[in-house]
Amino acid sequence: MDISVVIPVYNEEGNLPLLYERLVQTLRPLTTSYELIFVNDGSTDRSLSLLKDLAKKDTSVKFIDFSKNFGHQLAAYAGLEHASGEAIVIIDADLQDPPELIADLYRTLQQGYDVVYAQREQRKGESWHKLLTAKLFYRFINRLSDVEIPLDTGDYRIISKKIKDIVVSMPEYNKFLRGQIAWAGFKQTSILYKRDERYAGATNYSYAKMFKFALDGITAFSNMPLRLATYMGFVVSLVAFFAIIYTLFQKYVNGTVVQGWSSLMVSILFIGGVQLICLGIIGEYLARILDNVKKRPLYIVRESNVAELTSADVQ
Ligand code: UDP
Ligand code: MG
Repeated sequence: MDISVVIPVYNEEGNLPLLYERLVQTLRPLTTSYELIFVNDGSTDRSLSLLKDLAKKDTSVKFIDFSKNFGHQLAAYAGLEHASGEAIVIIDADLQDPPELIADLYRTLQQGYDVVYAQREQRKGESWHKLLTAKLFYRFINRLSDVEIPLDTGDYRIISKKIKDIVVSMPEYNKFLRGQIAWAGFKQTSILYKRDERYAGATNYSYAKMFKFALDGITAFSNMPLRLATYMGFVVSLVAFFAIIYTLFQKYVNGTVVQGWSSLMVSILFIGGVQLICLGIIGEYLARILDNVKKRPLYIVRESNVAELTSADVQ
């Protein structure tokens, strides 16, 4: 198998027929040995039956049907897990990522790269607040974390089998594929493209989902938020220290304070500082425990035509 294309699908009935056509048109000139892995992430429209129809008439179409909506990242991950290609493409189903770009991505990969990102030069048809939040998010996460996640890239990219095997072997529950792929290293590069408008339907990424996604990205690649409590603890303790000196000065030198005020102030400030430091320390440990306990099955498959997946197979 030369190329696997992984496509997370959530209520994309309006896009699937054209997507399929354009993918096949792009892939055929590249190789005869490719597969399209559609992961149906609990769609409530006709997406699944469309996929089954495609699978019936084209054996290169594989589908994995989740038991419910597990989210875009896990859908992409499940596709990666069952991809058998030497090169694997992750692409959105809504035609925002032009399938024709796969030819360029594939050619660049063959020049000896392990990851080729499709980097957005321009994004059409998206609201200014989506663009702004996306821009801020990528800059923020690069500031916080040690891995350098390329700016303005989504999950549209091609990766080698080597990278896929690394990403698939990471068992963590909160997936942040673009971070994990960047983290894996090897030779990575990007090519620029113009992002299209969604062909049909509306975005499935609500602000609530985007917020959770952002938190997953930040907590997966940075313990900074937890460390914040520790820093705050030290700052408060420092302030408390000066406040203690000030209150003692007021009491013994100026003698102008109300009875009991100094002892109250000193103890409140001091205890506050100590508490924050303790919280921060607990947070540090919590982060490390979290890193290690993620053992729940990542997703549940209801139905599939992928050989190694039987019905109700729990991964
Ligand atoms: N998607 C998914 N599960 C979800 C939400 C989205 O599999 O819970 C898929 C969706 O079908 C599409 C891709 O993820 O192929 C990107 O979603 P969308 O276009 O809604 O996000 P946006 O481009 O607006 O960020
Ligand atoms: Mg989209």
